[in-house]
Amino acid sequence: MRLEQVQAQLDRHATRADRRRVDVGAAAGAVDSVAALERLLGGAITRVEPPPPAELQWTEADGRVRARVTECAECCSTGSLPPAAGEFYARCSPCRCAKLRTFAKLVNKARLPVEPRDARLERWDVDRPGDGAADGNARRRAIRSVNAFLAQPMGGLLLSGAPGLGKTHLMVGIGRRLIHAGHEVLYASWLDVADQAKRSLRTSEGPGSVTDALVEVPILLLDEVGAGQGTDFERALVNRLIVDRFAARRPMVLATNYMLSRPTLPSGQPDGATEILSDRIGAHAADRLRSMLVAVTLTGRSQRESAASAPEVA
Ligand SMILES: [Zn+2]
Repeated sequence: MRLEQVQAQLDRHATRADRRRVDVGAAAGAVDSVAALERLLGGAITRVEPPPPAELQWTEADGRVRARVTECAECCSTGSLPPAAGEFYARCSPCRCAKLRTFAKLVNKARLPVEPRDARLERWDVDRPGDGAADGNARRRAIRSVNAFLAQPMGGLLLSGAPGLGKTHLMVGIGRRLIHAGHEVLYASWLDVADQAKRSLRTSEGPGSVTDALVEVPILLLDEVGAGQGTDFERALVNRLIVDRFAARRPMVLATNYMLSRPTLPSGQPDGATEILSDRIGAHAADRLRSMLVAVTLTGRSQRESAASAPEVA
């Protein structure tokens, strides 16, 4: 054990008289080793092992990713260290666990879903078996758009494509990167938002409180846009959210299972039977999204379908 460590332990555990003797001894040059220190104090020094440093732990609750920081003995888990003795006018300094605490707070605010597991951008498959050249190109374009957004998180992205193409994975991956860069984000599913708003009708707060909370979030990740029952109430709600967020100039990443424009039939006529995003949320809201956000359209075969139809391996 080095002398400085022993002295640091004395600072924590020794009496004031002990510390004074050490200070006097050090000034006189009598304390230059642990043995000298022990002679000075008239007994063996109890060597207390320093407690382990605080660390980040990942957990889950209600299907959401959570993070917590373990106990920090240095700052009693407050995140800041008091001024050193004698520095009456000095400020508290941040403990080394403070950065971890800030990060854990951002993780917990983000409410990222646990599923899909390990959804990180570097694990998002650009080349998937069974995809055609056009599908692969669409996925490469998607990654370029995501990287451009991450480099400058303004405006936002509108991810569209059938279920099982990895939109939620992409969204959660974006969320993780943003949190690491120190941004406050919130992930929400439109189904949950609409449900919450419906329940709020029975309270004094009303659905405005639900959308207002989503407008306040610095970066919103909204999944399943257009899902739900497609009632007038839901349309009004999604319109209000979109208009208010654009007015506040806060970025957002939206994902929808619906196509952005109507496909054409082999005859060249528009396919009126296929529901598209504007059928679900209204033409006005869909047009605003298309004009204000960068559209990222994914095509190809659903990963879930492929998994379901894959032959079982014994
Ligand atoms: Zn600490």
